[in-house]
Amino acid sequence: MSDCLFCKIVAGVIPAKVIYEDDDVLAFNDIRPAAPVHFLLIPKRHIESLLTTTMEDQALLGKMLAVAPIIAREQGLGAGFKTAINTGLAGGQEVFHLHLHVLGTPQE
Ligand code: 5GP
Repeated sequence: MSDCLFCKIVAGVIPAKVIYEDDDVLAFNDIRPAAPVHFLLIPKRHIESLLTTTMEDQALLGKMLAVAPIIAREQGLGAGFKTAINTGLAGGQEVFHLHLHVLGTPQE
């Protein structure tokens, strides 16, 4: 078992509130939400950060961006949301498994 926190969430060893899953990606609520809705979308395969991606990852990266608004709508963010990918220590990344933050406030 990898020592990676998010790989352990993928494996179900560490619990998380999973809101979406398919063969390639997993989305779960952030443990310290910075907005009323704050989830993380990750590739199931371990990728350290955007800095370690290659052109071979383009389909997976595209899928993450394509799936994010589908989940966001399901979470009530059809009016809009923010996204962020912190990359590397200098980019504020704390967990070194690629993840897309999606944050927003559901609108009435
Ligand atoms: P980063 O700074 O690496 O972009 O963000 C890492 C995010 O992971 C933070 O927003 C943090 O709250 C979240 N996080 C850290 N540990 C856990 C955990 O065990 N479970 C969940 N669901 N989120 C976590």
